[in-house]
Amino acid sequence: MLEALEEAKKAFAQGEVPVGAVAVYEGKVVARAFNQVESLKDASAHAELLCLKKAASVLDRWRLLGVTLYTTLEPCSMCAGALFSFRIDRLVWGAPDIRQGADGSLVSLLTIKHPIHEIEIARNVLSEQSAVLMKTFFEQRRKNS
Ligand SMILES: [Zn+2]
Repeated sequence: MLEALEEAKKAFAQGEVPVGAVAVYEGKVVARAFNQVESLKDASAHAELLCLKKAASVLDRWRLLGVTLYTTLEPCSMCAGALFSFRIDRLVWGAPDIRQGADGSLVSLLTIKHPIHEIEIARNVLSEQSAVLMKTFFEQRRKNS
């Protein structure tokens, strides 16, 4: 999660909403990404989705069985869908997202019993660090606008 936070800080430095993600397979980070919605002008360029795509490319398979995704923010509904599609084994997320969170904050997509795949989830891991980063980002953005 500390590595995911490093990714979130990169997003912050580039004026992106500070969310970072890393994918771990067999104890090694195989992919890392941060939110790039602004720079790519792509609303789907969330850290989680970019990270899943990179991990699939690195592992040369789209079924990411055995992979744990660490993300600094509770995934949105788009990313929650992707987590099932990419068949990740385990999800670890940081701060809850009251506006878009799909693991209980806005909707609960990850606790629904999925017919073909189950994801083990750890929530609120290093939540404080991630939340402070988000809060600082939005405070600065308000000041600058
Ligand atoms: Zn998302």
